[in-house]
Amino acid sequence: MLEKKSLTCIGCPMSCSLELVIVDGEIREITGNDCKRGEVYARQEYTNPCRMVSTTIACISGLWPRLPVKTAEAVPKDKVMAVALALHALEIEAPVQMGQVILDDVAGTGIAVVATRSLPEDQTPREN
Ligand code: SF4
Repeated sequence: MLEKKSLTCIGCPMSCSLELVIVDGEIREITGNDCKRGEVYARQEYTNPCRMVSTTIACISGLWPRLPVKTAEAVPKDKVMAVALALHALEIEAPVQMGQVILDDVAGTGIAVVATRSLPEDQTPREN
């Protein structure tokens, strides 16, 4: 069975329009890419689409209430919502160092979540 699929490459701001020709589920031709990365992206996107997940999580004792985090690698696209929900439910304690692993295996993906900035502990004296 012949199938055609159009994708927009997200490899750089050029946003090349990619055209895939697929025969019996196998990619036979990729056109529209201005560089090799577009071909790699098209193959990945067709066979196993993945996305990086960036968000913030709650930090109960930090100088700021939220810590920015991201997945260490792209996660399968069909797991993105599960990853987002797992991170939404997470609460950590400061201090945190940039690059620190916050979670080893988010939502059963085997992929870690890391802090994208440091977050010191809140040292402000509390009034009684
Ligand atoms: S194919 Fe290459 S030049 Fe085109 S958007 Fe992708 S990375 Fe950029």
